[in-house]
Amino acid sequence: MRNVTVLCLLCGTLTLGILTALLYVHFHRDHVSNWQKKTQAPASIWKLDKKLPQQAIHSAGQIPRSRQIPGQHVRTERPNKDQTKEWRPFFKLDENFNYSDPEFLHGILLYGLNTIISKSLGNQRHVPDTRDKMCLKKRYPTRLPSASIVICFHNEEFNTLFRTVSSVMNLTPHQTLEEIILVDDMSEFDDLKEKLDYHLEMFRGKIKVIRTTKREGLIRARLIGAAHASGDVLVFLDSHCEVNRVWLEPLLAAIAKDRKMVVCPVVDSIDHLTLNYYPAPIVRGAFNWHLQFVWDTVFSYEMDGPEGPTTPIRSPAMSGGIFAINRHYFNEIGQYDKDMNLWGAENLELSLRIWMCGGQLFILPCSRVGHVDRNIVQNVTQVLKALRYNNLRLVHVWLDEYKEQFFLRRPDLKYIPYGNISERVELRRRLGCKSFQWYLDTVFPELETSLQMKASNFH
Ligand code: UDP
Ligand code: MN
Repeated sequence: MRNVTVLCLLCGTLTLGILTALLYVHFHRDHVSNWQKKTQAPASIWKLDKKLPQQAIHSAGQIPRSRQIPGQHVRTERPNKDQTKEWRPFFKLDENFNYSDPEFLHGILLYGLNTIISKSLGNQRHVPDTRDKMCLKKRYPTRLPSASIVICFHNEEFNTLFRTVSSVMNLTPHQTLEEIILVDDMSEFDDLKEKLDYHLEMFRGKIKVIRTTKREGLIRARLIGAAHASGDVLVFLDSHCEVNRVWLEPLLAAIAKDRKMVVCPVVDSIDHLTLNYYPAPIVRGAFNWHLQFVWDTVFSYEMDGPEGPTTPIRSPAMSGGIFAINRHYFNEIGQYDKDMNLWGAENLELSLRIWMCGGQLFILPCSRVGHVDRNIVQNVTQVLKALRYNNLRLVHVWLDEYKEQFFLRRPDLKYIPYGNISERVELRRRLGCKSFQWYLDTVFPELETSLQMKASNFH
């Protein structure tokens, strides 16, 4: 009888636990989608000139989740069959997984991914070579600049983090790898301390681990990593990535040719539930007037030249923290805005700064890095607050008269404080950066076209 009672109690507790977790997730989704409703762009963000051929390059593969709070969807024109996969709600139970398994649920809620599979994959694995066949014929100089790989992490899953490091160690030519700099941004989990150091011993000599003494947020954590780097090039990666074959050479070769060239790999998708690695289509980074990052169509005619599917893609924006930049150039153009908090907007701020202050930003299709499309944000209120603050700093420093376009959509933010931006304004002046109008005319005309189209709808 006692056994039965204990069993009943156990079952009851478990069910209650699962229900609480699901309720939490449900609430979380509502919270995010309310926010999303507020900030969601109008149905049509922009359209390229209608006369252009309409065939997009998105034939195969998964579009990586855009750099947004989960629940925000990748927004490209004309989603095809593959892309519509991405138009799913934030938390949809997948019938292939057992959500009543406490270990599974715990992993999803804590890390945003399937920790059971992650554990079973272990420290390293092979991922499919997702490059176009033409990439295999490319040759890169034997002497390339050296690279410092900066990986920041906060409360990440041990195995996912470790696979990031081992994939870099395994697939990067030794002579180009100056070091891997891991910045532990005040993680709270025990396995990210001594256990991590112990396991990293196998890469001794190539790895530096830096631990912050307070939570800095990814922007300042990256600055700390960069300050400890000594390679010619800084390569920033998230701590849930797996690099692909010959991933670094294209990036280094492009920077060796032009030190003001900032380059991103194509970000392949690692599914957070199956951890399967999927090739991403070739897309470019963009954003809308809400300053939400979106992926944008690359048309097939844009890859008609001699380089075909290996043609570098000029990109108005970078998606997040996966890119390579000459270290001295990074310092010259003002690194990141160190007064931005926690997470968000730094990718667009840097993108605008690169273009407006004399650099260039390209995506290189022959360089591929997988990134786990996680589905969770811890402390969503705190993150949204930081994102708002960071966006405002960007708007007031870089958008000139176009800041009104942002405030038209977010009138609630017009009088919200955004700290002191005088250093960043002075930086812009000192670097002799061009106007936002120049950026719109030269780099990203589609954004303004979306305004004109909207205006003409009223006539
Ligand atoms: N990160 C960090 N401190 C923070 C938030 C994030 O070091 O306060 C790390 C995080 O662990 C990850 C990287 O910064 O390795 C990028 O964060 P995330 O993956 O959430 O950003 P996204 O993929 O949306 O660019
Ligand atoms: Mn990430």
